[in-house]
Amino acid sequence: MKPPLPSSVAATPRLRLRLTAAAEAIVRRGHPWVFADSVREQNREGAAGELAAIFDRNDKFFAIGFYDPQSPIRVRILHVGQSLAIDEKFWRDRLVAALTRRREWFDAQTTGYRLINGESDGWPGLVLDRYEQTCVLKIYTAAWFAHLTGIVHLIREHLHPELIVLRLSRKLGVSVPLRTDGEVLFQGGPAPPANTTVIFQEHGLRLEADVRRGQKTGFFLDQRENRQQVEALAAHRTVLNAFSFSGGFSLYAARGGATSVTDLDLSAHALAAARRNFALNHNHPTIAACRREQIQADAFQWLAHNLDRKFDLVILDPPSLARREAERAGAIRAYEKLAGAGIAHLRRNGILVACSCSGHVPQEEFFGAVRTAARRSDRRLIEWQTTGQPPDHPATFKEAAYLKAIYLRERGGK
Ligand code: SAH
Repeated sequence: MKPPLPSSVAATPRLRLRLTAAAEAIVRRGHPWVFADSVREQNREGAAGELAAIFDRNDKFFAIGFYDPQSPIRVRILHVGQSLAIDEKFWRDRLVAALTRRREWFDAQTTGYRLINGESDGWPGLVLDRYEQTCVLKIYTAAWFAHLTGIVHLIREHLHPELIVLRLSRKLGVSVPLRTDGEVLFQGGPAPPANTTVIFQEHGLRLEADVRRGQKTGFFLDQRENRQQVEALAAHRTVLNAFSFSGGFSLYAARGGATSVTDLDLSAHALAAARRNFALNHNHPTIAACRREQIQADAFQWLAHNLDRKFDLVILDPPSLARREAERAGAIRAYEKLAGAGIAHLRRNGILVACSCSGHVPQEEFFGAVRTAARRSDRRLIEWQTTGQPPDHPATFKEAAYLKAIYLRERGGK
């Protein structure tokens, strides 16, 4: 018999909810989240992963979603409209749709990318990344625990991976039952070592991902397009990669012909990973020829204090500066200050690439902060590009759009 798939958990009576009028309208317009304080009525307590049927004020069914009693996002919507079965076919169709959407985007030169991006691909609170023959499944709601066996079955059937690793979001909180972050859900061959590092390719560069313990699912796949853009800008330039992590931007800059690349990160682990990534790509003549420097320091402090160090291209890609809504105003000020500090390290006619991955800071507010920093500097900076989410990280609703970058370039500077 096939393992159980995410279908209705046997429970009687069926879990039924009614929402506030405002929340009902929001769900009907396609927003995938119902917050706890929007639930006006429910017929009984629900368990994590149970299907919650949502009825309107005329007692007519209009949506169905996964229930999570521990999360402030009480229901993650799976479907709005006529009643339909959330069965094996439902999930198979959604997986195939996500895979089909990505079919044209990557060739054999890129073997690490996102296969499922949560709500925006119809899989609320679940992310699936591919690194070569390894799949990393990351979950953001306890609702998925009840359905993992079925998901693993589907992934194996459609993707034939050698390894499936489970990652747990910090948002799940401390009371995570039974499962561990980094746990192997499936393995084809002999048992993988505890420190599993997978080598994959991105635009022909070889990179490592620490799939069991690394940040995110092991690598920042979301910056692929910005890295490629940096490669195109880097020829004959000296580059500072602030918040460099495993050196993704640095490698692209080196391949693009940068004369030197400086990695700046607080983490010794991250800097060591960047060294390994450079070693993996030594066969590229421009990478082998690029001068390399690493600085282990707090980037905010280092940028503030080492003003004698100037670069032709400065990349700023800090971690999220606003973990919650209340931190938004402070984060915007911090982005402005950081951009100002980055600009102060630009050589004449230099380029600044400033990124933000804070979901709580809207795109325009982040761009506004960087533009303000540019105006306040004594440099003639011209904005020539902004970017958002890459195609394999679609964002179908406001809260899902976290990544943005702005490119400034000095023209005729002193
Ligand atoms: N640009 C990277 C991703 C950056 S992730 C890429 O393309 O892969 C953010 C990085 O910032 C992490 O490596 C983390 O170690 C580092 N970091 C966090 N706080 C820092 C600080 N105060 N100073 C320097 N680095 C910091």
